[in-house]
Amino acid sequence: MRVNNVVPEFVVSFPQELEPGVLYVSAQFATSAHLCACGCNREVVTPLSPSQWTVVFDGAVSVRPSIGNWTLPCRSHYVIDRGAVRWERCFTRDEARSNRESDHALLDEIEASRQGWWQRLVRRISWRSSRR
Ligand SMILES: [Zn+2]
Repeated sequence: MRVNNVVPEFVVSFPQELEPGVLYVSAQFATSAHLCACGCNREVVTPLSPSQWTVVFDGAVSVRPSIGNWTLPCRSHYVIDRGAVRWERCFTRDEARSNRESDHALLDEIEASRQGWWQRLVRRISWRSSRR
């Protein structure tokens, strides 16, 4: 059965059996998990980071961006918006692929900027120590 409402549960680690209609959020592991809202009962795990998914709790839970289960047989696609499941159009295979590619590009970008920051810091430290 389709789930139309999602409530959050803040946990450290996910329970063995997930309940339908519950979004488990683990701050410790920066991950959330829920059973696919279409009712197929598959587990959907969404890593939380600026380049992946963001969970907002303002009394109700929202997940951004949309959750596209391209790898599941149901290929469902929905947005969790203030506790409500909003169904989105199923992506075609090509759309799913280009979406994944842009996700990877974003990840690469963030990774590159992180490295840049780190290398600048390392350079600054080694510059300082060479002056002593
Ligand atoms: Zn499903």
